[in-house]
Amino acid sequence: MAHTPYPQSYYAASANAVPARPELVGDVETDVCVVGAGYTGLSTALFLLENGFKVTILEAAKVGFGASGRNGGQIVNSYSRDIDVIERSVGPKQAQLLGQMAFEGGRIIRERIATYNIQCDLKDGGVFAAITNKQMGHLESQKKLWERYGHTQLELLDSTRIREVVNTENYIGGMLDMSGGHIHPLNLALGEAAAVESLGGTIYEQSPATRIERGANPVVHTPQGRVKAKFVVVAGNAYLGNLIPELAAKSMPCGTQVITTEPLSDDVAKSLLPQDYCVEDCNYLLDYYRLSGDKRLIFGGGVVYGARDPANIEAIIRPKLVKTFPQLKDVKIDYAWTGNFLLTLSRLPQVGRLGDNIYYSQGCSGHGVTYTHLAGKILAESLRGQAERFDAFAGLPHYPFPGGQLMRVPFTAMGAWYYSLRDKLGF
Ligand SMILES: Cc1cc2nc3c(=O)[nH]c(=O)nc-3n(C[C@H](O)[C@H](O)[C@H](O)COP(=O)(O)OP(=O)(O)OC[C@H]3O[C@@H](n4cnc5c(N)ncnc54)[C@H](O)[C@@H]3O)c2cc1C
Repeated sequence: MAHTPYPQSYYAASANAVPARPELVGDVETDVCVVGAGYTGLSTALFLLENGFKVTILEAAKVGFGASGRNGGQIVNSYSRDIDVIERSVGPKQAQLLGQMAFEGGRIIRERIATYNIQCDLKDGGVFAAITNKQMGHLESQKKLWERYGHTQLELLDSTRIREVVNTENYIGGMLDMSGGHIHPLNLALGEAAAVESLGGTIYEQSPATRIERGANPVVHTPQGRVKAKFVVVAGNAYLGNLIPELAAKSMPCGTQVITTEPLSDDVAKSLLPQDYCVEDCNYLLDYYRLSGDKRLIFGGGVVYGARDPANIEAIIRPKLVKTFPQLKDVKIDYAWTGNFLLTLSRLPQVGRLGDNIYYSQGCSGHGVTYTHLAGKILAESLRGQAERFDAFAGLPHYPFPGGQLMRVPFTAMGAWYYSLRDKLGF
């Protein structure tokens, strides 16, 4: 079978050394078969292994091949729709539970890095940058909202203070979250995979699940093998395709693009982001950026609904970078890549169970580095019979995208165009 390599990203070029992992050939038996070795699959596997389950992971390509190995590396708290929206759409008990969990993913990441000694350039501190007064007002409300759920490591930044943390004229203010931060995302995934194996878990690469035979004892088929399991956890997110047709109808893969500059001198890097925090702006279609461990600027932005790969990524993203930091107008771009995240209509994660034994979590709609780590914990809790926190997510309502399979891409792009126009006009 043809092997699927990593995309040509900065992360793949600077990945830590990893062992060769086999393809699945033949039949194996396990307690839990996890489909997908991104953060959702790896986090679930780790929590299950720590609780005595036998776990087998099937990965279609390589560990961290999907969004987990390509993302902006930003540890962003809460969900892609914030807790106030959740409070308005579900009952108070469920909202309270979901709100309490909104800051747990970042803590899980830091625990994993410390426990398993994962080398992934962790830095503390993330900035939400406001371009308009309306966005600044939103950050002020967000701070109060998050504080209500016990999250207090927050500082509002006025127009002078924001310039001290990010040297651009783009912003009128912002909010610093010291429990946010950034990591080398692929090295985090690779470190978690090593942790899985250190606890006796097995990872098969280049082994896509092609079919799941449902029933009391589910069987997951790959091109050359089968996994018989008590439970299956589906964690393929935007790369899952149509393996579970009932999930595909209520979610849509979307692409977002990232470029990475040549290494900057220490002086230039420090002049852009003096405290080495990561930054994302507050636009609907947002820009996000940070420095790498070797002082490159990693800059992402833009969304392609339906996840087509754009022809010239640098041409799309470079103007955004130069608008933010005109001082980098001549900088060389060493890497450019695209990756897919999974959008739901509510922008809240799609979590649930099919029958008694097939679990899934997907669709965190852009902000998933922290949520996916939490997802692993709640999925594992549920398999151990403690489903209260899992049920809080599983009870979130989800709807198909307007327009069906054919028209959902143009319809959603039109909606996003409307919201980004509102951002540009400041209302
Ligand atoms: C470019 C980009 C930038 C982003 N930046 C940020 C950011 O800065 N901060 C943030 O919070 N979030 C960010 N996100 C979102 C975040 O990366 C994702 O939400 C998160 O990584 C999703 O993890 P996952 O494990 O659910 O999915 P993925 O990481 O996509 O993993 C799914 C895995 O499943 C495998 N798979 C799929 N189907 C099968 C199958 N049939 N059989 C076997 N394996 C299968 C895939 O090969 C893949 O490895 C970004 C996303 C992208 C694309």
